[in-house]
Amino acid sequence: MALPRDYTGQTCSCARSLEVIGERWTLLIVRDAFYGVRRFRDFLAHLDIPRAVLAERLAALVEADVLSHDERSREYVITEKGRDLWPVVRSLAGWGEKYYAPNGALRTFTHADCGGKIDTASRCERCGQAVAAEDTIIGPGPGLKRGKRRTDPVAVALSRPRRLLEPMPLD
Ligand SMILES: [Zn+2]
Repeated sequence: MALPRDYTGQTCSCARSLEVIGERWTLLIVRDAFYGVRRFRDFLAHLDIPRAVLAERLAALVEADVLSHDERSREYVITEKGRDLWPVVRSLAGWGEKYYAPNGALRTFTHADCGGKIDTASRCERCGQAVAAEDTIIGPGPGLKRGKRRTDPVAVALSRPRRLLEPMPLD
């Protein structure tokens, strides 16, 4: 018997959210959109995901109004609704750093305004502000430096500090 595709029996907002972002790859696509990835081929190169799966997940995210698709430029851009997922992505990364990153964090998260470190609840440890994605600088962490290096253009761009949501200039 195939697993049902949704959680219709669940009366919980967590289950409702997972109907949108709970499929395999979906949250990684959202994460890449925060990194500034906008083009199909860049998602494809960075995620090593089958084309058909990427196409399906992107269509579902557009349908859910998490991403918008510009027909002319063919770019996928994260919407305001999608941006509200930033604390989810940040805290999931923090959980992974705590339990699954023996060589240290793969990324650093810094508040652009004051240079303070951003904690796993997206709060600046220096100035105390809740920091939105667009005010966050990500950089390579100690775990990334020690790990195996990816060479796709998105990974190369992420090997230097950059502001989240700034479009990836990959040409
Ligand atoms: Zn700060």
